Amino acid sequence: TIAVFGATGALGNLTIDALLARGVAAADIRALGRNAERLAALADKGVTTFTIDLDDPSTLAAPLQGADEVLLISGSEVGKRLPQHKAAIDAAVAAGVRRITYTSVVAADTNPLMLAPEHKATEDYLAASGLVTTILRNGWYTENFQSDFGAAQATGVVANSVGESTLVSSAPRADFAEAAAIVLTSDGHDGKRYELTGDSAWTFPEFAAAVSQVLGKPVEYKTITADEERAGLTAAGLPAEVVEMLASMNASIAEGALSLVTGDLSTLLGRPVTPIADTLASWV
Ligand code: NDP
Repeated sequence: TIAVFGATGALGNLTIDALLARGVAAADIRALGRNAERLAALADKGVTTFTIDLDDPSTLAAPLQGADEVLLISGSEVGKRLPQHKAAIDAAVAAGVRRITYTSVVAADTNPLMLAPEHKATEDYLAASGLVTTILRNGWYTENFQSDFGAAQATGVVANSVGESTLVSSAPRADFAEAAAIVLTSDGHDGKRYELTGDSAWTFPEFAAAVSQVLGKPVEYKTITADEERAGLTAAGLPAEVVEMLASMNASIAEGALSLVTGDLSTLLGRPVTPIADTLASWV
């Protein structure tokens, strides 16, 4: 039996689909989440659903009772995630599960992204838990750039503070989900840590060229300063804390936070990682 935290999210849904596609019986899958509507949609797939709240450890025991495998998809509430993940890990230890597989972030121990320390601390807590673990250090979702694609569609311009020569490696969520399903359903991954990235990295001028190709119209990449970026995001109506988070992320990306390329993801998948051009084409 496989219990999936974050099953109601985008990555979680794709992971449930990937597990079913790999022949795992729906009865052997437990989908854990908060949102009633999204849990109901998962129940329609035949999996068993559990309403949980990572902030309330008392909700975590029953869903893990008798589970062999746990996929802990990291939570989405930045700043609250370490206590939440600790609660999930404590519950897994108490339930006597065989293994926890955790979705971390690429290069968690050296990554300058402000998101990285919570992931690294979770990895450390897992290492001390005594459980068998597999760490999936996920790189950036290609879907994170869908707003840039939308801007290019509307204006013919992709503008940010990342810079012309910065390398970015990404893969679509579905590839990370398939990798998780493979790790959960095949041998040889106990105690392993994977750095999951695209097979190559791209620059924003290359991104703009790929978008141009897909849209069949000119698309230009424009580097703007961090201050111009903040002003633009603020003018677009984003709350101050979101503006700061995006600005901080782009500063880290400019430092190379997402430049790592390994063959780990394609090796796990047994095929090339979906190239960015294919994902862009699916958005038209
Ligand atoms: P989503 O926002 O779609 O899903 C987040 C999931 O976390 C949902 O299932 C949500 O449950 C669950 N969750 C959040 N808080 C709680 C809580 N307090 N108690 C129980 N469940 C909770 O994110 P994605 O699927 O796109 O991504 C998965 C994770 O990957 C994110 O949570 C984040 O840690 C990380 N991430 C990675 C990115 C990358 O590019 N690699 C980009 C963005 C995020 P519900 O919907 O039922 O409330």
